Amino acid sequence: MRRASRKKNIRALFACVSVVTALPAWSWSDHASLVWPLLRTQPNLMEQTVKAEPLEQFLIAEQAGIAQTLESVETWSLNTIAHYPPTPQSLQWDPANEPTPARFFAAIRVNPTLPYRLYVDEPPAQSASGRTLMPWQSLSFLSGGNAQLATRYRSLAADDPVTIAEVIATASDEPDFGMDVGLFEDNGTAFGAVYGFGKTPFGNDNLDYGSQAPFHMGFYHLDWLTRMAQPDLLRTYPLWRIALFGELADLAFRTGHDYWGWRFLGWGLHYVGDLTQPYHTVPLPGVSTFDGLLLVARGKTGEAIQLVSNRHGVIESYQYRRLTRALVAGDWSAPLLLAVSAQQADTPQSYDVMVGELTAASVEAAAAFDAVIAANMPDRFVSDPGFEWTGSGYERGVVEHVLEQKGPVAIQRLDDAVILQLQRFSVVASRWIARGGRAWSDEQSEGRRNE
Ligand SMILES: [Zn+2]
Repeated sequence: MRRASRKKNIRALFACVSVVTALPAWSWSDHASLVWPLLRTQPNLMEQTVKAEPLEQFLIAEQAGIAQTLESVETWSLNTIAHYPPTPQSLQWDPANEPTPARFFAAIRVNPTLPYRLYVDEPPAQSASGRTLMPWQSLSFLSGGNAQLATRYRSLAADDPVTIAEVIATASDEPDFGMDVGLFEDNGTAFGAVYGFGKTPFGNDNLDYGSQAPFHMGFYHLDWLTRMAQPDLLRTYPLWRIALFGELADLAFRTGHDYWGWRFLGWGLHYVGDLTQPYHTVPLPGVSTFDGLLLVARGKTGEAIQLVSNRHGVIESYQYRRLTRALVAGDWSAPLLLAVSAQQADTPQSYDVMVGELTAASVEAAAAFDAVIAANMPDRFVSDPGFEWTGSGYERGVVEHVLEQKGPVAIQRLDDAVILQLQRFSVVASRWIARGGRAWSDEQSEGRRNE
């Protein structure tokens, strides 16, 4: 036991030497397609509609409530989250000021240059609605991943009806649009200079979205040696984002702003989803002590990071292709879709307990997940440190490449490994969405909607 834990420590120390490079953060590619199989089994979410509400309207109506909510999230974060950087006083939401979106974005410290429009990410199984679609560039300043570029986005006008399921699915992908990009003081942005997050703790400077990594990855279970040797790895903030958006959702539901209730809940769901991805909770999964020592001795830590980065990217492309193929075909009995739809749970949990348990399970799963990927993906994709997966052009055909080079048994093993992670996602996502269901039915039983 003792030897095992010492090994783990040594490994972690070496593994973390240069985590600064290559940690892609488009986790699970497209979050909307991830959550659809779960949503479609809940008729109340699929059928009930809410009216799209411009953000300004919510901010003006609930100016005082927002101040209270943000203040209590701030206090909770200072008390609960180690290394939480306090919100600078000048950014705090003050009811004496005009309640503008710009002030709100500053108070919740997100990238203020995104348009945060009213829009829908159309379900993959739905045939094209014939309505005018919006280009990706009208929603984000990022170049976009394959998933985003392939998605159909449709604009909503104020008061347009939209199903709850559509609001959740759409919003759950939105934090990858650049909401957390450029928030550190060394990112060269005017807002990053004043947000109080300090210098970027880690991330890949070569990616336009690289600086979002510390908000979408949560290294909450590092051992003491790593904590001492690499304290920057402790500066990760998904727990804060989850609590922030969870509380804003509660406020919106309590005050009858259902659209914003579900949209904030969807934003929070994004980070919950990210944390079920093992590569988002462990800096370098599957690197053994022995290998770690050899790597350091040979000065090849960078190669190990490249491999992990490639495995992370390859498995995301793979699961995205497998999931969307089944979704587009409406093949609801496909094991991958059943994994997401069949694991429903609704027990309430506090934010920190939920995130603590969720990330512990992801850490636990990481080495085995990594090993299955290493053994069953084409060698070039996952075992060649000279190869870069991102932008390699193989993403689209990844499933066919596996089939050709590793055979159907590899597909089966990779599916099984992905299914285990999807089942975990389904449990936490169900629990998270149930928060909204509870708030929604409380509000309905109080009759507030009809006032
Ligand atoms: Zn993310």
